[in-house]
Amino acid sequence: MKGNITEVTPPVDFGPTYRRVLRYLFPFVRFFSFAVLGFLLFALSQPAFAVLMEAFVNALDGKIVDGLYLIPAACIAIAFMRGLGSYLGSYYMAKVSENVIHAIRCDLFKNILALPIAYFDASKSGRLISLFTYNIGLMAATTSKAVTTIIREGLTVIALFAYLLYQNFQLTLIFLLLGPPLALVISWVGKKVKRLGHGIQATVGELNHVAAEVFSGIRLVKSVVAEDDSSQRFFDVSEKTKKLGLKMAKVNSIYTPLMQVLVIVGMALVMYIVLLSRDSMDSAALIAYVTAAALLPKPIRSLSGVHPQLLQGVVAASEVFKHIDYEKEIDKGSYVPDSVSGAIDFSDVSFSYAECEELILKDLNFSVAPGQTVALVGRSGGGKSTLVNLIPRFYAMSSGTIKIDGHLLEEYKLDFLRKNIAIVSQNVNLFNSSVADNIAFGLKDISMHEMKAAAKAANAHEFIEAMPEGYNTLVGENGVLLSGGQRQRLAIARAVLRNSPILILDEATSALDNESEVKVQAALDRVMKNRTTIVIAHRLSTIEHADNILVLEEGEIVERGDHAQLLQANGRYAKMIQRNFSE
Ligand code: ADP
Ligand code: MG
Repeated sequence: MKGNITEVTPPVDFGPTYRRVLRYLFPFVRFFSFAVLGFLLFALSQPAFAVLMEAFVNALDGKIVDGLYLIPAACIAIAFMRGLGSYLGSYYMAKVSENVIHAIRCDLFKNILALPIAYFDASKSGRLISLFTYNIGLMAATTSKAVTTIIREGLTVIALFAYLLYQNFQLTLIFLLLGPPLALVISWVGKKVKRLGHGIQATVGELNHVAAEVFSGIRLVKSVVAEDDSSQRFFDVSEKTKKLGLKMAKVNSIYTPLMQVLVIVGMALVMYIVLLSRDSMDSAALIAYVTAAALLPKPIRSLSGVHPQLLQGVVAASEVFKHIDYEKEIDKGSYVPDSVSGAIDFSDVSFSYAECEELILKDLNFSVAPGQTVALVGRSGGGKSTLVNLIPRFYAMSSGTIKIDGHLLEEYKLDFLRKNIAIVSQNVNLFNSSVADNIAFGLKDISMHEMKAAAKAANAHEFIEAMPEGYNTLVGENGVLLSGGQRQRLAIARAVLRNSPILILDEATSALDNESEVKVQAALDRVMKNRTTIVIAHRLSTIEHADNILVLEEGEIVERGDHAQLLQANGRYAKMIQRNFSE
């Protein structure tokens, strides 16, 4: 949240964005042409009314005597044509718009899912959500309303002008003199709106972000009585949004009356010249002319009002396309062996997070034989989580190599690699779905028998059976209906069901009370058997049976060995044990 967001105005090249939207539109050209056809009918109905007026006045003058009933009949026919055209146009335009937006929305979602984890660290989730709500919303409004206006009113203006030129060429030229001043005003407002559009978008993202952050941390907010601070924070961002919105409204509301005045000045001119030339044209033709001319201001006004809206839509779209274009996770690997035995080998691995230069991991060397357990211990911030996150390639290391079964991580096909690694961390993500769905998340065709076996191994079967609807019980949003230990055991059941040869436990038991910890630990011991396990733990019970213990401090392995060896060495590990695990 640095600096003034209104200043963040990356230049937008509109051409590519338009072409991009057109490409999405292409599969629906047929609907689109129906829409244009409908709007054409609508547009033609306008000069038709003028022609009707001419006939009407001629009939009044007694110049038409026979078939008078044809005039009201034509009037009704024109009204029908106009209604039909409007219906066809709006309906097929909506069809195009909904289809295009649906396609773009799904592309956006899919592409965001394919982005590397690092992207989600940097991006505020509120900003991501507002892409779907605010940006896509604006795009939908633009494609349905603005484009409709452009086509419908554009065709109407053309039809009316054609009629006017046909009726009286010279008079109509006067109208055309209004073109240049109109164009000037339009481009001026366009530039203003283009600049404001970005600012508003950024603050709306921030609004969502602040609200999401406060609501998800509501317990903390209430417990430290930070309601006022949070409200103030929200108020500030909201106020910023309001000010920008008002600025935008100011521009928009100057715009419309300005157009109106310009158009009416033109009308007055036309009226005056019509009066001057009243001898050269018969009055029926003149009335028809003025009728058609009087129909012009409305579509022109709609047309001129559409420009800022269109620009807003394009700015929103360019932001969406930017996210669709972000570089996906790199997956050049193709190695898919029949089975993985789980030997892990780190050699000279260094790592730093993209935005900072400081090395988080420095020249790490260690290996784990298949089925063995390695424990990572050390102060928080030492780089333990970072280290394990390299194995499923959540981040790419800066230098060095990691091998599994003698093959570089990068050689493996990415989804194959990840399917062979199960991760249980302190934060368990649960979806608002049934217990069974949560355990089987990401897996297909799981039998109830397998599910129960996994739950039993995870010490979860009993409490699941005790729930009102057993495995079909809904867990509530993010599993609020479950205790910490229960959530943890569901996560372990999930890992068991995946049956991956490599298991990563990142402080899986640190948030638990003693009783649930005993249950979870028993489950873990069972699961760790026959698997290569990397465990990050605070609890002595988990660490002391590990085949190898690595003490990680500021990204370096400062001690290694098994429990007995490290106690013997009487170094940092021994001190840590004394301090933390004196119980
Ligand atoms: P540990 O798990 O041992 O507590 P971490 O691996 O979580 O340590 O963190 C190691 C260091 O990396 C810390 O200094 C932390 O601030 C930094 N860090 C962790 N995650 C990120 C991230 N996504 N982006 C930038 N820095 C990070
Ligand atoms: Mg950690």
